[in-house]
This record gives sequence, C-alpha cells and structure tokens, in this order.
Amino acid sequence: MRQKITLLGSTGSIGVSTLDVVARHPDRYQIVALTAHTRVHELAAQCVQFSPELAVVGSAQSAQLLRQLLDAHGCSTRVLYGEQALCQVARDCDTVMAAIVGAAGLAPAMAAASAGNKILLANKEALVMSGQLFMDAVAQHHATLLPIDSEHNAIFQCLPSGYQGDPQPHGVAKIMLTASGGPFLHRDLATLHEVTPEQAIAHPNWVMGKKISIDSATMMNKGLEVIEAHWLFSIAPEQIEVVIHPQSVIHSMVSYNDGSVLAELGNPDMRTPIAHALSYPERIASGVAQLDITKIGQLNFEKPDLQRFPCLALAFEALRCGGTAPAVLNAANEIAVQAFLDRKIGFLAIPDVIARVMHQLEPRPATDMETVLHQDALARDAAQRVILAINAT
Ligand code: NAD
Ligand code: MG
Repeated sequence: MRQKITLLGSTGSIGVSTLDVVARHPDRYQIVALTAHTRVHELAAQCVQFSPELAVVGSAQSAQLLRQLLDAHGCSTRVLYGEQALCQVARDCDTVMAAIVGAAGLAPAMAAASAGNKILLANKEALVMSGQLFMDAVAQHHATLLPIDSEHNAIFQCLPSGYQGDPQPHGVAKIMLTASGGPFLHRDLATLHEVTPEQAIAHPNWVMGKKISIDSATMMNKGLEVIEAHWLFSIAPEQIEVVIHPQSVIHSMVSYNDGSVLAELGNPDMRTPIAHALSYPERIASGVAQLDITKIGQLNFEKPDLQRFPCLALAFEALRCGGTAPAVLNAANEIAVQAFLDRKIGFLAIPDVIARVMHQLEPRPATDMETVLHQDALARDAAQRVILAINAT
C-alpha cells in the first residue's frame, strides 16, 4: 500500500523539495492533496504531474483560475479553497507534510493531529504558537510527529530510539542547535540599519522562502527553533545551547552525561530530512549528494552575539515567560518581517517591534486555542500600531 500524502504548502521551498523526493519513489507515495495560497500556475503544473484527488487554494478567485487551468490540461483534480478545506485534506490522508509558512499553518496541522495522522512538521510557527496544546493533541489522538526542520530532524536522529520526551533517563545533558549565523554574521554592526530585503534574503547556505530567510538573518529563526526543540523533546531552556556553525554541515548535536556528543552531518539540502521523515524508520534515496568531508576540510563554531542578534534573546525570554508569550513573539515577528519586506521599517526595527509588543501584552496561560488565537490577533494589531508609530517619528 502506498502512503497517502497531503502536502500543505506545495509551491513553497519545502513543498517543492518534498515533491522532488516523492517523485523518486512512486511505488511508495501517492500525493492525494496539494495546497497553495496564491501561486496558482505552479500549483496547476504540480496537479498535472502528480494527479492529486484534491487541490486547495486561498480564495474563490484562485480556485476559479485553477479550475480553468486544470480543465485545459484534462486534469480531474477537484478544487477547493479556504481554511476548512485545508483542514479537510489534512485529515483525509495517512501523512501530512505541514509546510505552510506562519500561523496560517496552525489549523490544518492541528486537524492532522486530531485525526491521528503522521505529521511531518516543517511549519515551526504552529508549534511555537501552541506548543503544549499541539503536543497534547498529538498524544491524545496517537498521531506521529516527525520533525522536518533540519536541526530538529538531526536531534531526532541523535537521540536514542524510544526517546520518551524526557531527557533525564536517557542521559541527555543538553542539545546543541547549530545556526549558520545568516548573511550578516560578520557585517559591521554600524551598517546593519541600512541592509535591504534583498541582502537579508541572500542566505549563504540554504535556499528558502522569504520569511524564514529574514528570520535567519535576524536569528529569530533559531529563536523559534529553540522553542520548537523545547516542545518536541521536552527539554528545558537551560539545556538548549545555540552554536554558530557557518558551514551548516553539522545540523545539530546531542550532548550526553558521559561526555559523548552525537551529531548528524550532511550537505545542507532539505531533501535529507524530508526523505528521512517520509520513510522513517527506513532510509530512502533523497537525491542529495554524499558529503565530501575532505573537500569541506574545516568546521568552525562560535557563540552567538546577542547584541548582534537580539531576536534570539527575545525568543528565550518568551520561552521562559511561557503561556501565550511565544504566540505573541511569533505574531509580532510575522508582522515585523512583512513590514521589512515591504520596506516600511528597517532591519533593526524588527527586534524593536517585537520587544515593544511583548512588553505591551501580558502573557496568559495558553490553556485553549481561542486564547492563543486571541493573543495572536492582539499582537498583530499591537505590532501594526508600533510600526505606524515608528514611521510617524
Ligand atoms: P515558502 O514561503 O517557500 O512557502 C510557503 C508555502 O505556504 C507556499 O506553498 C504558500 O502557498 C503557502 N502559504 C503561504 N501563506 C499561506 C496562507 N495564508 N494560507 C495557506 N497557505 C499559505 O516557505 P518555506 O521556506 O517552504 O517554509 C515553509 C515552512 O517550513 C515555514 O514554517 C518554515 O519556517 C519551515 N522551514 C523551511 C525550511 C526551508 O528550507 N525552506 C527549513 C526548515 C523549516
Ligand atoms: Mg532549521
């Protein structure tokens, strides 16, 4: 029996890499649904190639255009639109690749968890927003959660099999999340205020969507990953260390009580974690070239400078505050990153906006999804007001 796969966010960077891996193994995987927000032409081409039963887009208008494009190719894929449809396709399958960017991915990821499906989680924002609620839903409905984020996938591979979400009995002392440091690791601090979205998106090692590329430049990406690691592996903030490793060859490490450190290495290509999670516990070819370690020659490490990367400190602060603080951090970041991409604020205003929003909104216990979504909405409004205030001065 082939695994029935729903791919949420199929036109994105992770989406395209997932289809690349799937196309190498037509005997194992069947794409039953593809979803995209606005890139209808790309989605149409994917539907023609993979013949899913369903395709989901963001609006009625996009759905109409997709229908026309598919009819022109004689493709019988049914077309739906909107959040309910995303949740439906996340339920009606065996495996969901959750690769929508941002908070928009939360509802379908939650639907996949509630249906007891296998979830391959790239959409870290969903876990950052609702960590406890999401992990509870996974446990309650016996869903399987496998990390796609390269660091978390590496940690998963370096933990003992049967790791039960408690570091103590397994002798885990800490986990070390590696970070490339992004394009501005060694740029003169005095010139950071003038960097453009184009410069910030140009990541040295990975080709990714725009939002995560900006998050990598500010290191908010690593901050979100610290929170993600806390929930995935039940590990305390003090046991999570961030290490700058500019080559991105070691994808993360687990340090044990006896002094052993286990690392997962490979070329920086997301098809490796995608193939790992798709086929787990087996191994399949991903299309990624074998690592040529002598060609790399040297691996470097350094401590992150929190003056340069204040977003990393803000994320640790949100994790320690708990409750809805990470949801507020995430929402404010999404608004600030979009404002930077739209050239409404400068690069250094990103952490400024987030810090001001976090200090405006008192964290609440994150006991239910309504509270989380309400705080998310309040944080977005607050961030917009802060941005207006910045521009008014
Ligand atoms: P991307 O911007 O390239 O793609 C995002 C996808 O989400 C697209 O298919 C888009 O159509 C869809 N989408 C966007 N807004 C939507 C909305 N409102 N409703 C429904 N669908 C929407 O992003 P990406 O780089 O592929 O990243 C996807 C997720 O994976 C992010 O959460 C990111 O943090 C995570 N991730 C990405 C990488 C990477 O290498 N790209 C690595 C690790 C984790
Ligand atoms: Mg990552």
